[in-house]
Amino acid sequence: MDQATALVALSEKDLEITRATKKLSELPEKTAILDLRHKLREIEALSAKASVYVSQLHAALKRTEDETATISEKIVAEQAKVNSGAITNHKELQSLSREIDSLARQKDKKENEVLAAMEKLEAGKAQAEKVAATVEKGKLKEAQLISQFQKVGGELQTSIDRAIKERAALAGVLEAPLLARYEAVRAAKHGMGVGILQGDMCSACRIDLPFERIQALVSGGAIGECPSCHRLLVVPESARS
Ligand SMILES: [Zn+2]
Repeated sequence: MDQATALVALSEKDLEITRATKKLSELPEKTAILDLRHKLREIEALSAKASVYVSQLHAALKRTEDETATISEKIVAEQAKVNSGAITNHKELQSLSREIDSLARQKDKKENEVLAAMEKLEAGKAQAEKVAATVEKGKLKEAQLISQFQKVGGELQTSIDRAIKERAALAGVLEAPLLARYEAVRAAKHGMGVGILQGDMCSACRIDLPFERIQALVSGGAIGECPSCHRLLVVPESARS
């Protein structure tokens, strides 16, 4: 392979590697994974809050149940005093009876509170389960996207690795000063270091070159420099003959 052919092939290989690397970094699966993770974090935070809320409702229910039990115990104790016959004083008995009535009303009220707390707890649990299910669904979707990304990305990476090997072989064909010049121009020109003279035009900067410049290039050999963009300019054999 002559120097000009190897130079053009190397330049094309480098563009191929750049394109594939860019494609890999911009795979839609990757963006989708990042978006989904962002949403998942929000839902997970919501789920944690819902769990805290449910345990608060649990505690509130337990408290109300305990209070109800305490009142019930008091009623039983007061009723036992009445039933024991130990208290014979009429006024004392009346006062005890009033106390028991009052406790019974308190107990009714507490029992209603227990029911309300139970309903609240059930609603809270249902909400928390719904959020937890959304998290699970999101995690499943994330796993699917990751395996899809690994498949598509893996194929791309394989072709990039292959292209890098081919690139090394092409670079090995070039003489050291030419390779060094190519690398320097490529770095300065955002990845594209070589143009081809197509008619009067440099294929890299797409500028029509003046006649005398073309004459100089054609008589100068297979590899020159574009007077417009200063990239390496390959002059095809057809233009030189
Ligand atoms: Zn040019």
